[in-house]
Amino acid sequence: MVGIIGCPLGHSISPAMHNAAFKELDLDFEYVPLEVDPEDLGEALKGLRAMHFAGFNVTIPHKETIVPYLDEVTQLARRIGAVNTVLNQEGKLVGYNTDGPGFIDSLKEDAGFNPKGKKCVILGAGGAGRAVAVSLSQNGSELISIYDIFSEKAEKLAEYINGAVVKDLQKEIAAANLLVNASPIGMQPNIDDSPLPENIKLHQKLLVYDLIYNPPETKLLHLAKKAQAKAISGLGMLVRQGALAFTIFCGKTAPVEIMWQAAREALSAEA
Ligand code: NAP
Repeated sequence: MVGIIGCPLGHSISPAMHNAAFKELDLDFEYVPLEVDPEDLGEALKGLRAMHFAGFNVTIPHKETIVPYLDEVTQLARRIGAVNTVLNQEGKLVGYNTDGPGFIDSLKEDAGFNPKGKKCVILGAGGAGRAVAVSLSQNGSELISIYDIFSEKAEKLAEYINGAVVKDLQKEIAAANLLVNASPIGMQPNIDDSPLPENIKLHQKLLVYDLIYNPPETKLLHLAKKAQAKAISGLGMLVRQGALAFTIFCGKTAPVEIMWQAAREALSAEA
């Protein structure tokens, strides 16, 4: 048995995606959603251990608070400061982060974009922004600038990855190869909102990657397409972080196409 812990979990499409992959490979696993309130996290982990769960995913609001409860955390997860996948190794809980590597896989596989030597602007310095910034930095991006409405957060993250805080958003976007939205602005139900001020112009040579996957085309991605920039939604990152977690859980290569299909179907069923 595997699953996902978070709160609230109503919107999660991970069970559909993982169960389709287990079925495809004929594996005797089941993936269940487990809603866990923040104050119950410690007790819930004891329960998962007692029930011999093979592993589980972790989502909002537990990605950071789970770290002290784990027996071991990989170097990357520690650097990102968040865990989204846990493997139960005979009672020892080991924490991983597949969000960052999933984002890089999606950039390379879905967008054909190699971040090495590229200039990147990240909007949002929360958990997802941190995973993206650390991963871009590890993958050799030349300049990473961070923009957050809470400027202290942006400063802290920029310092951590040896990047910079955005000083002139228009100028930096004009010089950038990649713009990532790691803020929640534009998510359902606020689909008419954009994380960018209205006067900001995008350009044709820019790749705009929105971590949001619901709606499939955010206002930001709509504006990117209008400016003839390349526009990619966060569904690819969701699928690819899931594929990496799948391999951690069962040791098999994930059937990525099946996971894509199940994720798209679950998303359109929700709409
Ligand atoms: P979070 O911890 O709340 O962080 C979001 C950050 O963005 C906060 O620091 C927030 O500041 C800041 N922000 C808000 N409005 C902004 C704006 N207009 N410009 C710049 N920064 C702004 O959320 P998160 O967990 O990092 O998640 C962020 C988004 O990524 C969500 O939409 C989530 O669904 C998505 N995500 C997608 C995947 C995937 O697999 N596709 C994985 C993880 C996350 P304040 O705190 O001051 O509001």
